[in-house]
Amino acid sequence: MSLIVQKYGGTSVASIACMMHVARKIKATQSAGHDVVVVVSAMGDETDRLEGLAFQITEQPMAREMDVLLATGEQVSIALLSMALQSIGCAAKSYTGFQVGIHTDTAHTRARIEHIEEAKIREDLERGFVVVVAGFQGIDANGNITTLGRGGSDTTAVALAATLKADECQIYTDVDGVYTADPRMVPDARRMPRVTFDEMLEMASLGAQVLQIRAVEFAGKYNVPLRVLSTFKEGSGTLITFEEKGMEQPIVSGLAFSREEAKLIIRGVPDKPGIAGQILGPISEAHIEVDMIIQNLGDDGNTDFTFTVHRRDYDRARAILEKIDKELNAKGILGDAKIAKVSLVGVGMRSHAGIASTMFEVLGKEGINIQLISTSEIKVSVVVDEKYLELGVRTLHEAFRLHEEPYEEDYEHRLRA
Ligand code: ASP
Ligand code: MG
Repeated sequence: MSLIVQKYGGTSVASIACMMHVARKIKATQSAGHDVVVVVSAMGDETDRLEGLAFQITEQPMAREMDVLLATGEQVSIALLSMALQSIGCAAKSYTGFQVGIHTDTAHTRARIEHIEEAKIREDLERGFVVVVAGFQGIDANGNITTLGRGGSDTTAVALAATLKADECQIYTDVDGVYTADPRMVPDARRMPRVTFDEMLEMASLGAQVLQIRAVEFAGKYNVPLRVLSTFKEGSGTLITFEEKGMEQPIVSGLAFSREEAKLIIRGVPDKPGIAGQILGPISEAHIEVDMIIQNLGDDGNTDFTFTVHRRDYDRARAILEKIDKELNAKGILGDAKIAKVSLVGVGMRSHAGIASTMFEVLGKEGINIQLISTSEIKVSVVVDEKYLELGVRTLHEAFRLHEEPYEEDYEHRLRA
């Protein structure tokens, strides 16, 4: 007998009709012979609504009270879902984070799970219950209710799956898997039957926002097979696992993009030790995260120093740079907030040189200028003018034939084996 943890997000339990649908899915899983632990989020936009109420009182509500408030959303869901299960003849029992024993640190509104008690869940499963656990919440050592940060139910599900050594952690959501590119931009983007944790982390941080990044990291760390599936559409979704030795990998698995970047250049800074630190030190002290960094030597012995930040930090970063420009007696600041980053991701790239050059050629043929480049073992990213984003993404998707199913049969075969 296997144990499956299923997580249903807010849109999956947004109404009683949705809850009944979810209940039938859970019952079917149990009838197929699995033990099932379910994690649920608050209904629809309930968490936003609750936050809104708090902000009507004060701009800075106490974090402790915020947690008490926000945790109510999930408590409603677990009770209703358990009732829904019972109404169709499926024995179920709901637990808040406190009741089941999800112990966290004391960092209100962004707590980290420290450990989870197993005994009660095991006992209930043995007696044939579906165990329904509130996502996103826990309890600290002093008995205070804590929450894990927005979107935290994914993390609850993965943590439970890790603790219980579940065979799979299934994240049910409103998309039916992870795609080779955002299907809203690339109509023939293809659902990937499986991706590795490393690829998923690259895709997630680059804008393919299907799963909470923290949950993917957690699952990778504890080796929990994670599957993303749709609540409303049948299918096997996307399985996120470790790379299997000997498994054939598509060279490029997917394509991610982000419009959230901005570029800053400080021109004509002296080419000597310590300068990069002098420029980026104040930026990091202001808690501004830097993504790509490029420095090139001009023929006058000075260098231009370029980096990218999140667009929301652009003005702040620019103001800091203006100061540094004066201190270093540099040649001024240039900036551009209308850029986009496009990345090819694939573990198969490790063993294949030439992906980057093919990418550059393809973009060049379309007349798309590449402003910045960065690479890692499994990724090549370029920054281009935002107005070329769609063209670039579509052209690359086509050129790397991501719409074709490379090893689909192979995957399915292996999954069944
Ligand atoms: N209900 C919480 C939120 O909306 C947690 C979650 O949905 O995962 O952020
Ligand atoms: Mg939610």
